[in-house]
Amino acid sequence: MDLHFVRAVDAGLPAEFEAALADHRQWLQRWHSARLCGAIPGNDIVATDPAEHCAIGRWLQHQTARMTPWPGPFASLADAHAALHAQARQLALAEPGPLSVPDYGLLLAAVEAFEQLARPIQLAFERALSDLDPLTWLLNRRGRRVALERERARSRRGGLAAAIAIGDLDYFKSINDAHGHSAGDHVLQSVAEVFLTELRPYDSVYRYGGEEFLFCLPSTDGVTAQLVLDRLRAGLSALTVPEIGGDARITMSFGIAPIEADVTVEETIERADRALYAAKRAGRNRVVSWHGPVPIAIGAVA
Ligand code: GH3
Ligand code: MG
Ligand code: MG
Repeated sequence: MDLHFVRAVDAGLPAEFEAALADHRQWLQRWHSARLCGAIPGNDIVATDPAEHCAIGRWLQHQTARMTPWPGPFASLADAHAALHAQARQLALAEPGPLSVPDYGLLLAAVEAFEQLARPIQLAFERALSDLDPLTWLLNRRGRRVALERERARSRRGGLAAAIAIGDLDYFKSINDAHGHSAGDHVLQSVAEVFLTELRPYDSVYRYGGEEFLFCLPSTDGVTAQLVLDRLRAGLSALTVPEIGGDARITMSFGIAPIEADVTVEETIERADRALYAAKRAGRNRVVSWHGPVPIAIGAVA
C-alpha cells in the first residue's frame, strides 16, 4: 500500500463509496417497484445519463478528477454501471407486462457484473482501514512484516540496498505533561502529515508504538537514508502546532539499519533500535546509523 493509497483512504473514500453503493441498491429496488409492480418510473430510471442521476455514477465520475488509488478498476466499474443503467432503462421503457426471461436475465447479469467489480474495491478499502492507525492515519504495525520481508527477499536476489529506520519523538512526555494528552495527539497527527509529505511514494511508514515510527526505505543506501531522514527532521523543525504554542519545536531522533539478506527482520529492527538509542544518548534530534556493534553517529543537529 503506497502513500497515495493511504491519503485516499484518509480522505474518506471508503465511506463515500459505501454510501454511494447503498444509494445504488435503493435505485435497483425502485427499478423493481416500477417495472414489476407498476409504479411510474422516475427520472433516475429513464434518464439517459446514469452518471448524473445515480450517486455511484456521480461518485465514479468525480474520481477521474481526483487522485484515486486505482483508476483502472474505477473506470471498469463506471463502465459496468453505465451498462447496467442502460439495460434497466431499456426494460423500464419497454411495453408494460411481464418481462421475457432472457431480458430479465440480461439485467441480472449486468447487476452481477457490477457487483463483481465493486466487491474487490470494498474489500481493499476494508483491509486498508484495518491496517491504518485511527489517530494518525499512518499504517499500523500489522502490515510491516510483509513489507520488510519483501525488501529482505529483494536484497537476497541481489537487488538494491534498502534500509529500516526507527524514529522516536524527543521529550514527548513533557509535551503531554505541559499541554495535555489531546495536544500531544495533535502533535502526532502533524508529525504524520510531515512524513506523508516528505517521504517518497515508495517508502512506507508505520506507527510502531505510541510516539515511535518505523520506516521501510526501499532502494536506499545508508547515505540516501540519511538524506531522507534529514528531510523529515527539517520538516519537523518547521512544524507549528497551535495546540502546544507557536514557538514550540518538535524534534525526533532516528536510528537506521541496512536490510541485509542474511540478517532477520527482527534483528534488523533491533539494530535500528540500538542506533536510535545511541542517537538519544548523543543528545537527540539526530540520525544515527548502525555500523556493527558500536553505532557511529553520522547525523548532525540541524
Ligand atoms: P525521549 O526523548 O527519551 O524519547 O523522551 P520521551 O518523553 O519522548 O519518552 P517517554 O518514553 O518517556 O514518553 C513517551 C510518551 O509518549 C509517554 C506517553 O504518554 C506518550 N504517548 C504515547 N502514545 C501517545 C498517544 O497516542 N497520544 C499522546 N498524546 N501521547 C502518547
Ligand atoms: Mg520519545
Ligand atoms: Mg518512545
